Amino acid sequence: MATINDNYLKLKAGYLFPEIARRVNAFAEANPDAKIIKLGIGDVTEPLPESCRKAMVKAVEDMGDRSLFKGYGPEQGYAWLREKIATYDFQSRGCAIDASEIFISDGSKCDTGNILDIFGNNNKIAVTDPVYPVYVDTNVMAGHTGPTNEQGEYEGLVYLPINAENNFTAELPTEKVDLIYLCFPNNPTGATATKDYLKKWVDYAKANGSIIFFDAAYEAFITDPNLPHSIYEIEGAKDCAIEFRSFSKNAGFTGTRCALTVVPKTLMAKASDGSDVEVWKLWNRRQSTKFNGVSYIVQRGAEAVYSEEGQAQVKELVSFYLENATIIREKLTAAGLSVYGGVNAPYVWVKTPNGLSSWDFFDKLLQVVNVVGTPGSGFGAAGEGYFRISAFNSRENVEEAMQRITENLKL
Ligand SMILES: *Cc1c(COP(=O)(O)O)cnc(C)c1O
Repeated sequence: MATINDNYLKLKAGYLFPEIARRVNAFAEANPDAKIIKLGIGDVTEPLPESCRKAMVKAVEDMGDRSLFKGYGPEQGYAWLREKIATYDFQSRGCAIDASEIFISDGSKCDTGNILDIFGNNNKIAVTDPVYPVYVDTNVMAGHTGPTNEQGEYEGLVYLPINAENNFTAELPTEKVDLIYLCFPNNPTGATATKDYLKKWVDYAKANGSIIFFDAAYEAFITDPNLPHSIYEIEGAKDCAIEFRSFSKNAGFTGTRCALTVVPKTLMAKASDGSDVEVWKLWNRRQSTKFNGVSYIVQRGAEAVYSEEGQAQVKELVSFYLENATIIREKLTAAGLSVYGGVNAPYVWVKTPNGLSSWDFFDKLLQVVNVVGTPGSGFGAAGEGYFRISAFNSRENVEEAMQRITENLKL
């Protein structure tokens, strides 16, 4: 009889979004006239920028022309895209990242999970709490954890709590950890990191031989000129960090699929015999074997983000969501709630009022004003007592939801 990877049995049943759907559906069935507004899911709502669409249409035509047709592309992505990324996203900010250190992929979700393929099974792994669940679940699948305790924490992981007291930026771990996941601007809290803060982590990683997995999926939402967009803006980060970026949130590619991972050639890790190995070589080998590249058409669409037109359109898209976030922040504050994030980030992280649990506040919002958000406890035990509201929605929906909250939600 074939056997399975038992680690999958340790995973908590996909609880958060199915449970949200269950409660919303039950409410909708009992209240068929309620106009429910969903500010829960972290997916974009606005259409693709015109420059990306045009580039993809042209790329489809290329594929019908014998002289321009493309078969398999480079597993690492086309050089013309990698060079634009290196120039515009990194070198323009003083980061000495070369195109050869950039790997194009079909998503940061996949990359943040797949990266574990090239690391050992005995690393001490640190995540923040609350956290983007993919980091945790992929470590469970890889067998890097034990079972969960009553709080839903997996044995073997180091959880670094983030809360209002520490500005939603984790303290350095008191025990030595080897792999650290950091996400800034943060999902779910909308928190950002200063250069000084990231420098502490880079110094820690260098002192301890650790590697930082830096998820910058929301970097385009940074408008404060003092905040770093890349961990490579911190001196020494090329020796201790891998950065993940995506076209999902800046250019609306969640359904189109294109992302990138930066693995600097100077990044080293230990083999079990104690020798130093270039991490880049392993990731290159992994991608060449298990991946055949992102479609030519989609890479042309991503390339268009770097055209003058594309830059303007992406900026407009990001500004639109940021204005939504500002409206959400202002209205919720006016309603008497304490809010965090939502500046330089598309998520507003709300303290539940009167000590309500995350799920009790969820039910109250749903039942009283027919608005759906995401309970903070779904992102980790330390998210209890918080609630995430997403700015990814139409202006009309955001305004209507906020009006209902300020007028009808009695706290
Ligand atoms: C949306 C998101 C991503 C992007 O994932 P893709 O697979 O590229 O769409 C990465 N990290 C976080 C934390 C996200 O919220």
